[in-house]
Amino acid sequence: MLQFEPGYTLPHRMGRRRNCQLERRDRTLVTLSAVVPDVDGLGIIPEVLTRNTSHPVLWFSQYHHVLHTLCFAVAVAALGGFVARQSWKTAALCFVAFHLHLLEDVLGSRGPDGDQWPIFYLAPISSSVALSWGGQWALNAWPNFLITFALLLATLYLAWRKGFSPVEIFSIRADHAFVSALRCRFPTKQVGR
Ligand SMILES: [Zn+2]
Repeated sequence: MLQFEPGYTLPHRMGRRRNCQLERRDRTLVTLSAVVPDVDGLGIIPEVLTRNTSHPVLWFSQYHHVLHTLCFAVAVAALGGFVARQSWKTAALCFVAFHLHLLEDVLGSRGPDGDQWPIFYLAPISSSVALSWGGQWALNAWPNFLITFALLLATLYLAWRKGFSPVEIFSIRADHAFVSALRCRFPTKQVGR
């Protein structure tokens, strides 16, 4: 049976739980942690631009996927925790979000040419652990479209329900407009921020 302090009501309890929710900055850090492993793919820009020059840059060919590692995950989580207001919680969620990215890569990121790339999880310390899965589907295969669609629906639902969306990363004003449009389209009396 739940025991409450004198004057400590269920709304207090719910309010306290709501205060545990990450604020905008911390949520942004967690979201960015889920995409930051692919920063190592940005080398494609200088590589394409210098392809036909006398000094081609091979940053994409040489360094693509080098940040999909435990070391980088720890660095990202540590930086996230350092910058966040709720340090430990944000750091833990950054770490989880980073690994969700790795899991998704292992499941469904096979190249269009059939190339299956392993994740050298312990690099650069060791190359002994290479994560891959024989059933890995292609990047443009239907499961990825299905998952994307389902996650988009979940994002829209959560934005409608909670009152904020990933748009807040770029602009609070645009986010409010986005949520207002959603709630206008699907009105309810029980929605709370
Ligand atoms: Zn990736």
